[in-house]
Amino acid sequence: MKIILSHDVDNLTTKEHSKDLIVIKMIIRGFIEFFLFRINFSTLFSRLKLILSNNLTNIKELVELDKKYNTKATYFFATSNDNTLAYKAEAAKPHVKYILDNNLNVGIHGIAFDNLSKMKSEYDKFITIHQTKNIGIRMHYLRKNNDTFSYMKEIGYFFDTTEYSLDLKQPYITEEGLIEIPFHIMDSYLFQEKGLQKYNSKYAIEYTKNIIDKNKDKDIILNINFHQEYFSDGWKDWKDWYTWIVQYCHKENIEFISYQEVVNELSNK
Ligand SMILES: [Zn+2]
Repeated sequence: MKIILSHDVDNLTTKEHSKDLIVIKMIIRGFIEFFLFRINFSTLFSRLKLILSNNLTNIKELVELDKKYNTKATYFFATSNDNTLAYKAEAAKPHVKYILDNNLNVGIHGIAFDNLSKMKSEYDKFITIHQTKNIGIRMHYLRKNNDTFSYMKEIGYFFDTTEYSLDLKQPYITEEGLIEIPFHIMDSYLFQEKGLQKYNSKYAIEYTKNIIDKNKDKDIILNINFHQEYFSDGWKDWKDWYTWIVQYCHKENIEFISYQEVVNELSNK
């Protein structure tokens, strides 16, 4: 088994949400989770402190961990907005540079999914701002319809990783000729129910360990998505879970692989 790690970047600051209800909802959820005993006071307190200090970024801290263990992780940044994702395309620029300077990878977090010209403009904007090539994509909220893959192929995306599969579906080439690299575990699906944190790190680690241990000796890829905004003490269970994955795979000699390497392997076959 080899591991792909990726990070969807949905939020960078709280101020970028001055015109929507994302942060208000985040605060309300924090209190509900605390009163339901799903998180402790120290987690709630840290979360409120981060929100007040306008910091949902955590990229420096996460890059440090990814770099230390050479995880080859890919950070997906958006270049346009919807009513849930509000940072400006240019705001990602210093972060993308920092990630690439540390030998990690970047891709696009797609917003448009049913309009070729809007999708193409997100792609062009990314290439222009960040001066990159051979870029892959994961759609925000995993949005797609019957045309999305053919539009991605036409635009020239190197791969897509929007498909979610609990059955550990492996990378394949779609009818449209696009390389699809399904993913298998996502922090929000794992920890939450109805938008609220339900489980703690102990549960999440056991769940993940079970999948890793059962499949360790197989020639497959396990593709995991962790939102960078949760790499903080405000979401301590989530942060501890991701840190555990990285350290456990390192300890067990399970190799980390980048999307790029998977694409190369698939193209060689
Ligand atoms: Zn997203």
